[in-house]
Amino acid sequence: MLSITCKQCRTGWQVPKSKKGGQVNCPSCGVVNEVAGASDAGWFYGLAFGGYALVGLPLAITAVIGILNGEAGTAVCFGSAFAVVTIVLLFVLLGS
Ligand SMILES: [Zn+2]
Repeated sequence: MLSITCKQCRTGWQVPKSKKGGQVNCPSCGVVNEVAGASDAGWFYGLAFGGYALVGLPLAITAVIGILNGEAGTAVCFGSAFAVVTIVLLFVLLGS
């Protein structure tokens, strides 16, 4: 949930996060209020995917190199680390 304060009557209330970047009517006076945060959604996804690429890709590449060289230990170790990073990303994205 996001906290909104009406620009007209200063009433505070909560809206679902799905309203982020959209418009909601004030429950008290009915004035349309913009829900802030559309711009930092892009920033958030950029950071999430940037961090994922930065951490996840080297792990995936190292795991593939391990598989190609027949080093099962390396492949499993870095492969599971990559899986963990992927799961963390999914949780971050779904939790937003
Ligand atoms: Zn209002």
